Amino acid sequence: MKHFKLNITHLLIFLGIFGMLILLYVVSKNMFEPKEYEKNIKTDNYEYNIKNIKTGNKLVDQKINKYIDNKISFVKKKTKYKMQIDYKISEYKNIKTFDFKEVEYSDSKKIAEEHKIYNIKDGQAIKLTDVFDKKTDYKNFLQDRLYYFSLMFMNENSIKVNEDKLKKLVSIDTCNDFYINEDGINFVISLSNISDYSEIITKTFTYSQLSEYLKENFKIYINESFEKTRVTRNIDYFKDKKIVAITFDDGPSNLTTNRLLDELDKRGVKVTFFVVGTNAEKNPDIIKRMYLEGHDIGIHTYSHSNLLKLSDEEIYSQKSSVVDIVKSATGFEPTLLRPPYGNIDDRVKSIYPMKNILWNVDSEDWKSRNADIILEQIMSTTDDGDIVLFHDIYDTSVDGALKSIDELSRQGYSFVTINELLQIKGDTKDTYYGF
Ligand code: ZN
Repeated sequence: MKHFKLNITHLLIFLGIFGMLILLYVVSKNMFEPKEYEKNIKTDNYEYNIKNIKTGNKLVDQKINKYIDNKISFVKKKTKYKMQIDYKISEYKNIKTFDFKEVEYSDSKKIAEEHKIYNIKDGQAIKLTDVFDKKTDYKNFLQDRLYYFSLMFMNENSIKVNEDKLKKLVSIDTCNDFYINEDGINFVISLSNISDYSEIITKTFTYSQLSEYLKENFKIYINESFEKTRVTRNIDYFKDKKIVAITFDDGPSNLTTNRLLDELDKRGVKVTFFVVGTNAEKNPDIIKRMYLEGHDIGIHTYSHSNLLKLSDEEIYSQKSSVVDIVKSATGFEPTLLRPPYGNIDDRVKSIYPMKNILWNVDSEDWKSRNADIILEQIMSTTDDGDIVLFHDIYDTSVDGALKSIDELSRQGYSFVTINELLQIKGDTKDTYYGF
């Protein structure tokens, strides 16, 4: 009997321990193993598509699964609702990032897009302050660009803008919905918060654009090479838009041109510079900057000469020397000429042939030297397909040009470079005044 009792006790203890182990296993499995979600659920009221998520970091998986659970119960209460969940794991150097993306649609219109990024190594969410160097002015840099990007998008698409509300929307302290991929850092802006436009828009900043604002350690793992590359864009976007080519002659100037470039960059506006050789020689960094930021560069002769009065040899050297200066600063060979004073004839054209770009809207900025008069002049004379003449060597011209750009944008105009204008409108001649 004594022997038997002992056995029962042992058995009970054994069963108890075994049961507890099973319970622990089940609990820990639920807590730590990623859940298998049903991937494609479709009912009359709602639908969701979820990619099964395994990040390799249990902490991240837990947070994400909890988030998904909440989202699913939210979606199940909706009608005509759709949710898509997707993710991507990227590896830069040896740091893996988990980029989680959730999109919601109501009545098949996209109404929300949410991103969450985690560092897979430590399981922590990535915040703006992990990416940007607090000692830099990154907030203003981002805010300005997000503001103008949204403003110009809304203008181009005839969406009513409340500029104060827009400023608040893109304030970096509230707008930190961003994600990271190979292209750069992408900010998601929900215009539905301030307008009846229900799609979200995304502004991408490339790593080279951001290089001076990024944290040192982030620079290292996010991108192998910080060699800056020229900004390019797809001109198809402009094909059904009212377009204007803004041009600047006589620079670059180390007093005014960089400010102009800063302001154009904020607005994402690309223009064309017709540079004078003597100024280009003195400011190769500005020439390089124009090129990298996606502007067109044409030439305006070496010493601002009236080409009609020169010998054939002089004409050749007035053109070729500036082409060489631009080429050595950028690697790019200009093909556009703006003859000083608009003076051109067949002889000038035949020597070192280039595309001759004149203008059909004159800001008369050199005459008025007054930003408001320039604005008035531009607004009363500019139309679709026009080539507009400014000079980037006066502060008043820079101010007048920027005011004109903002006002033209409000009226639905987009801005293209001369080469883009020719591609869009058709390039059939050697000389243009506008379209
Ligand atoms: Zn000139």
